[in-house]
Amino acid sequence: MSEWLHDAGGAGFAHAYLIEEELYRGRSAFQEIRVIVNPDFGRMLVLDDAVQTSERDEFVYHEMLAHVPLVAHPAPRRLLIIGGGDGGLLEEALKHPLAEAVMVEIDREVVEVTRRFLPQIPGGAFDDPRTRLVIGDGIRYVSASAETFDVILVDSTDPKGPAVGLFSEAFYADVRRRLRPGGLAAVQSGSPLYQLELLRAVRAGLGKVFPVVSTYLATVPTYPGALWSFTIGATGGDPAQTPAEEVARRTAGFDLQYLTPAGFRAAFDLPPFLARDLGIAG
Ligand code: SAM
Repeated sequence: MSEWLHDAGGAGFAHAYLIEEELYRGRSAFQEIRVIVNPDFGRMLVLDDAVQTSERDEFVYHEMLAHVPLVAHPAPRRLLIIGGGDGGLLEEALKHPLAEAVMVEIDREVVEVTRRFLPQIPGGAFDDPRTRLVIGDGIRYVSASAETFDVILVDSTDPKGPAVGLFSEAFYADVRRRLRPGGLAAVQSGSPLYQLELLRAVRAGLGKVFPVVSTYLATVPTYPGALWSFTIGATGGDPAQTPAEEVARRTAGFDLQYLTPAGFRAAFDLPPFLARDLGIAG
């Protein structure tokens, strides 16, 4: 009988993926790491049974978590990524004229397995001279480091194991302290359907330290439920108000597959059910 991977969403549903082939399976100090091949999504990186990224749809999540905050900042030069071991977010971010991109990933094996089995996802990002890869805990890094950044992106797993603290108010306060004037932070904030409490908590936590908190959405086919949220905490203006011409100008030549200038604004236009659930006046 064929084997399927079940990636659980809420308490009562899961996305199921036929495993055509398993290219890698191992246990790191932090999680079980697998690379499987699915007929529709190609190679997929799976951590503790949760799909992280796939060859077929990685561009959606990575473009939306990289370019929306980076374009919302007027001139980002220094970037910090927390998590993001597959390098897909780093690869998108490096399309911007950054001076340095520091990536703090807790699990070296995620980086190594991705480079070996999914090299097209990071592309040349890990070898880019602007990249500094730090293997360590992102929570400790933001609390101990004295470095400052224009943009901080949190590309984390779900709030389990070492990622729990990446969703805490104390972490957001440390992130805020690591930002230069006008800086902003963006985090993946889960499913707006079955992780609504998580999204509310992220917004409340960021709201304690940032004057502007703005949530936007994208359709990520391989995340359970597909509809996914991201939330920005900004020290400057509202990212949603970035003019379409500015988005077009700053992403010209990027060969994007999901994000468009009109789509940038639309991503912040929350559907009424969610605006109501988040208590945002319509
Ligand atoms: N986009 C993905 C998703 O939402 O499914 C996340 C991709 S990325 C592979 C997530 C990474 O966060 C993992 O490689 C994991 O090891 C890393 N991570 C979890 N907790 C961390 C921490 N405290 N510090 C740094 N990295 C962490």
